[in-house]
Amino acid sequence: MNYTIRGAIVPGCFNQNEGYESIDVQIVDGRIAAIGSGLEVQGTAIDGTNKLLLPGFVNAHTHSSEMWQRGSIPPRPLELWLAELYDFSPLDPQHIYLSALHTAAETLLTGGTCVVDHLVLIPHREIETIAAAVRAYREIGIRAYVAPLIQDQSISTGIPEGGAEREHEAFPRTTEEVLAWLTEAIEQFHRPDEGICMMPAPTGIHLASDALLKGCVELSDRYDLCRHTHLLETKAQKLIAEEKYGYSAVEHLKRLDFLNERTSLAHCVWLDDADIEILAATRSTVVHNPLSNLRLGSGIAPILKYRRAGVNVTFGCDGAASNDSQDVLEAIKIGSMLHNVTDLDYREWITPREAIEMAALGGAIGLGMADQFGSLTIGKQADLVLYDLTNLSLLPRTDPIGLLVWGRPTQVVHSAWVAGRQVIAEGQLTTIDLAHLQQELFRHSNWHSNRSSPQAMAAESHYRSVMGLKP
Ligand SMILES: [Zn+2]
Repeated sequence: MNYTIRGAIVPGCFNQNEGYESIDVQIVDGRIAAIGSGLEVQGTAIDGTNKLLLPGFVNAHTHSSEMWQRGSIPPRPLELWLAELYDFSPLDPQHIYLSALHTAAETLLTGGTCVVDHLVLIPHREIETIAAAVRAYREIGIRAYVAPLIQDQSISTGIPEGGAEREHEAFPRTTEEVLAWLTEAIEQFHRPDEGICMMPAPTGIHLASDALLKGCVELSDRYDLCRHTHLLETKAQKLIAEEKYGYSAVEHLKRLDFLNERTSLAHCVWLDDADIEILAATRSTVVHNPLSNLRLGSGIAPILKYRRAGVNVTFGCDGAASNDSQDVLEAIKIGSMLHNVTDLDYREWITPREAIEMAALGGAIGLGMADQFGSLTIGKQADLVLYDLTNLSLLPRTDPIGLLVWGRPTQVVHSAWVAGRQVIAEGQLTTIDLAHLQQELFRHSNWHSNRSSPQAMAAESHYRSVMGLKP
């Protein structure tokens, strides 16, 4: 279907730091066909009066199945939090399907039109897990990058040794097996023309052998795919890199040819200046997940340094067990103002307009799709969101983008399109029955608190000792 949005408010000169203007936008055959005033109506007319039109944001790092544990894991650093997460991960593909729908729904309803799902897999049911998530994303109509979370080392290797002689269980799959099913998944599910892309995405250097990392590079080269991984999220991971390689994790990834202009790296909290130079030189993208970094006490990523060095930065919610929401606008708000407390020079602080550009175009750049979506540009795919500026949370009238980024917008998305398909109309998802999804999420869960996690308890004393915490 085609659409013509009439009289929508857009940032002046489409992205310059000046004023606003009122324009019409034609969406024809999935693309932005024309932008101007007084355009002839093609297809369905959409009243854009008192509505702000922006390119859709990219939720550039999440783990959809963490939805089942949101609000539940106690305050813990990543390494202990992860042990608990794995002890209670969903093991039923129907759960994977529902949490993918849920993640996509919250992303869409907060301005996102694209999600990068670093998908936690059901052991030995990897293809089924991916199939369930892909089915959800196709149904709801979000643009999805499905990045199966792969590793070939057991979770206990994610804590530094610190001189201790620890025994690690073998990972239940060999490196060859992991790469074999990943290849099968790519063949089966990678359909870029239909909005579903696969990404080789090792958990991180702390849980992956060089053979696995090289296998991911080889697969992404062979199938022309983006790459994704966690990078130096915690101080413990920095220590692991020193133990494993004797030099930085970023240098190691560079030596393995893992870094390029289609590589996106979640977190990047513990990088030094030499690492930042490597990210700039390789044109890698940093995905900033501020809520997760705060929740898990991982640290504050040096985002303004990245921007100064010319590194592309975008935002992610991270999984809902470390956030604990999938509100893209919230991630943009916290992620763009957090650095004001670490960097004194206010001239480098991120403005609301810069923040939305990082979230939309920055996300597209990290996926190698800057020529396809991420801005209001004729010829690009119509991944667009219309915000209702008469919503209580966006009143009284001041600067629309300032209200959207700095305020606490609530149910403000009026309409959204992904590749020209309208997925939200009049504030409601058009593609799925949201009330039914709510019932299913309720039915498949129970109230609970104070669970006991065997893996977290087993790991705690070593973690405290290696991180220099009192016993
Ligand atoms: Zn993550």
